Amino acid sequence: KDRGFDPDCIFCKIVAGEIPAEIVRQDDATVAFRDLDAQAPVHVLVIPRHHVPNVGALASERPEDAVALLDAVREVAAQEGIDEGGYRSVFNTGPDAHQTVFHAHVHVLGGRAMTWPPG
Ligand code: 5GP
Ligand code: ZN
Repeated sequence: KDRGFDPDCIFCKIVAGEIPAEIVRQDDATVAFRDLDAQAPVHVLVIPRHHVPNVGALASERPEDAVALLDAVREVAAQEGIDEGGYRSVFNTGPDAHQTVFHAHVHVLGGRAMTWPPG
């Protein structure tokens, strides 16, 4: 279960450099790259290097990585220049939330005004 790398996972392949991505930041625990299907002027995905299926599993199994992920979100927002205007951080978990990739990730969206409630 805690194997760290899933050969069938698209985000594990991005971490491994096996498929290309526009990486904007990385550190020992996390990688941040632009979403292929951007929903805002800035749309970056921040993921742990270690494969876990969602953020709840990350928090319970790898709490230090969960903290690193949140730190990376803040740093990506500053680097992308959306920290002053504001940005939204989204964790989709499960089918009702439209999770499509089962490797923990947070969407960082900014550069435009967001709406509430989300769709
Ligand atoms: P979810 O719907 O699971 O919360 O978000 C998965 C996100 O990953 C989607 O926004 C989708 O556009 C993005 N995505 C899926 N495959 C790739 C890929 O190969 N490269 C990049 N950069 N983004 C991807
Ligand atoms: Zn993975």
